[in-house]
Amino acid sequence: MLKTYDVIIIGAGASGLIASIIAKLDNKEVLLVEQMPNIGTKLKATGGGRCNLTNKLPQNTFIEHFGKNGRFIQDALNTFSQQNLIEFFESLGIKTDAKDGFRVFPIGHNSQTIIDAFKNKLSQLDIKLQLNCAISSVSKNDDIFLVSSKTDKYFSRNLIIATGGLGYAKLGATGDGYNIAKQFGHTITQLAPAMMPLKTKESWVKNCKANTIPKTTIKIDIPKYKKLKASGDLIFTDDGLRGPVVLDFAREISMLLNTYDQVPIKINLTKGKNQEQIYQHLKSNSISHPNKNILQILQTLIPKSVAIEFLKLLKIDPTIKYNKIKGDKKEQLVQILTSTPFTIIGHNGFKQAMITRGGISLKEIDPKTMQSKLTKGLYFCGEVIDIDGPCGGYNLQWAFSSGYLAGKLLS
Ligand SMILES: Cc1cc2nc3c(=O)[nH]c(=O)nc-3n(C[C@H](O)[C@H](O)[C@H](O)COP(=O)(O)OP(=O)(O)OC[C@H]3O[C@@H](n4cnc5c(N)ncnc54)[C@H](O)[C@@H]3O)c2cc1C
Repeated sequence: MLKTYDVIIIGAGASGLIASIIAKLDNKEVLLVEQMPNIGTKLKATGGGRCNLTNKLPQNTFIEHFGKNGRFIQDALNTFSQQNLIEFFESLGIKTDAKDGFRVFPIGHNSQTIIDAFKNKLSQLDIKLQLNCAISSVSKNDDIFLVSSKTDKYFSRNLIIATGGLGYAKLGATGDGYNIAKQFGHTITQLAPAMMPLKTKESWVKNCKANTIPKTTIKIDIPKYKKLKASGDLIFTDDGLRGPVVLDFAREISMLLNTYDQVPIKINLTKGKNQEQIYQHLKSNSISHPNKNILQILQTLIPKSVAIEFLKLLKIDPTIKYNKIKGDKKEQLVQILTSTPFTIIGHNGFKQAMITRGGISLKEIDPKTMQSKLTKGLYFCGEVIDIDGPCGGYNLQWAFSSGYLAGKLLS
């Protein structure tokens, strides 16, 4: 006779890991199943391997960043707040820091420390973990869930779906959670890739690869959408743009790409300086450094590789002095610095999407418990639900808070 667990958790990512610990601490018989050979594969890749766990915003402001669905996360955050998360990791032996006063990372900024801490806790609590186990079907009979992989069957009184979204299949994304939810009558809202790098028509970007430009501002250059803008750090890639500002803005642009073949944008690469300020900056620098050529002067504003490309585009000799540049070329130079034009031509979809927009409809989940309103004993947590936040620790906090709440198995 096969054992019946109190709860089976599908997915040992951020939300599933914490759910398993909370359930076990409440003396539940727990089985945690994961299709990958290791726990927390995506978690390990977060924050560029540094793992931006959460942030320091006041709770109200934190919630506002989740947009119109934000209210749904209130109960989960009340149960397991940003401070609770910091204390939880401290209890696992991980201290955190927030060097910029905003984003919280484990000290040492190495996500492996988080994975190791989870591994230790799972083994200390003797939580049954089944790795390399992809769940392919779920059913429910007489209050008992039957959870099957190709080779094994497991039984439980409760089931937590913590299978994540569709982005980065190589890190374990399967979309299986949506299918399981559908099977129990749940609605899946439209799924779309979010937080991904963008491809530009301008191929010169590849020559500036890996250069980070801090505090840029991006605006859409379509009259109807002029008000859409975002600010933050930007990084050039082989075929376009990435960095926090681009990842956050990608959701707006991907929607526009459904209507337009190309989306023109303008970027201020000079920390928001306006044309007059740039003009004065170039002029005063060339006066105080009369021996410097224009390429050297531009490097007081932007990285050398970008300055080279701008001068190439404007056909300005990089070795000449600023005061030798003709009036209209000076104007063009000021223009390109404060309002660099790019044309967005696409993105790589879910392959590089850090987040999935859409998911299991909020209307069918009780935010106070994370339990399905349609099937008793069925719980959801993390990215599989129709909630997504911007860059900056929002999504992991949501995964941990909702996982914590689901793990309590409240009904
Ligand atoms: C590159 C990258 C960097 C990121 N950086 C950050 C960051 O710094 N801060 C932040 O807040 N957010 C970040 N995110 C987002 C964050 O990682 C996710 O929001 C979070 O991991 C979601 O947690 P989850 O538990 O819902 O899903 P996941 O962490 O994706 O876990 C789901 C797990 O379920 C398993 N699974 C799926 N289907 C099955 C199945 N059928 N059977 C068994 N197991 C299954 C998967 O293998 C996976 O391990 C980043 C995302 C990416 C891709």
